[in-house]
Amino acid sequence: MTAKTIIVTGASRGLGLAVARDAADLGANVVLFARSAEKLEQEAQAIRDEGGKALAVPGDISLEADCRRLVERTIAHFGRIDALVNNAGIIEPIAPLAEASIETWRQNLLTNVLGPVMLTQAALPYLRQNRGRVINVSSGAATYAIPGWGAYCTAKGALNQFNRVLAVEEEMVTAVAVRPGVVDTEMQAVIREMGAAGMPESAYQRFVRLRDEGDLLPPEAPGGAIAVLALFAPRDWDGEFVAWDEERVQELVRKYATRREG
Ligand code: NAP
Repeated sequence: MTAKTIIVTGASRGLGLAVARDAADLGANVVLFARSAEKLEQEAQAIRDEGGKALAVPGDISLEADCRRLVERTIAHFGRIDALVNNAGIIEPIAPLAEASIETWRQNLLTNVLGPVMLTQAALPYLRQNRGRVINVSSGAATYAIPGWGAYCTAKGALNQFNRVLAVEEEMVTAVAVRPGVVDTEMQAVIREMGAAGMPESAYQRFVRLRDEGDLLPPEAPGGAIAVLALFAPRDWDGEFVAWDEERVQELVRKYATRREG
């Protein structure tokens, strides 16, 4: 069987890197995308050293030209696209609406919403050919408001709607939005660093407590579930917003666990 090719954005660290590694373990060709060119190449090389197939394409998801170049490089290298994981994201600005600069809102929405839209649009012709899947990495913040996270909550709510639009417009593509839980990544470090100034004390302390009490998830846990969804999500989940740890997702993870190497 021809190996599937998956693009993972925000694959230089955190959740995206865990998804990329796991997809490679599941036998997929992996394309890693993020701005940190050197780190990205190191991670792609590490996957190749383990016997996987990986290509690093550095770029900025908020730039349409970079999104198009990512698709072109993927096709030139692997010849197909079966899955796209829209994972790259930023939390900033962490500041009340009344104080945040509109420029920081613009960059948040460009990165978290328009980036996935631009990349999906560029990849659609290839995704259609293979009945491909788009996984939109969302958040609980799509469904409720956290004070100080105005741009992020707005962006993730919009991303969930984009996921539904994709489902109703693109018959040959399966779109699933995922809620990964609270994960021990640099994004959480930024929240702990900037939250004291930009969030109410009680909301901010919740995130400090999660770290102090060891309740942050390792990226590999939701990352493994997202890789499985990207490669095998059932067609009838099209347009849904799922949690990484809900039973039907974990059932799918168990089903494909045996395909991992090692
Ligand atoms: P992270 O460690 O900060 O990683 C973010 C990734 O996105 C990095 O690889 C970063 O790489 C990339 N990125 C940021 N801006 C980019 C841009 N303009 N162009 C290309 N790549 C860009 O955060 P994470 O926690 O893994 O976040 C991954 C996803 O999970 C995000 O969508 C986030 O909203 C979601 N999420 C996270 C949590 C959590 O608790 N951590 C909870 C819910 C949802 P470069 O800096 O090298 O570009």
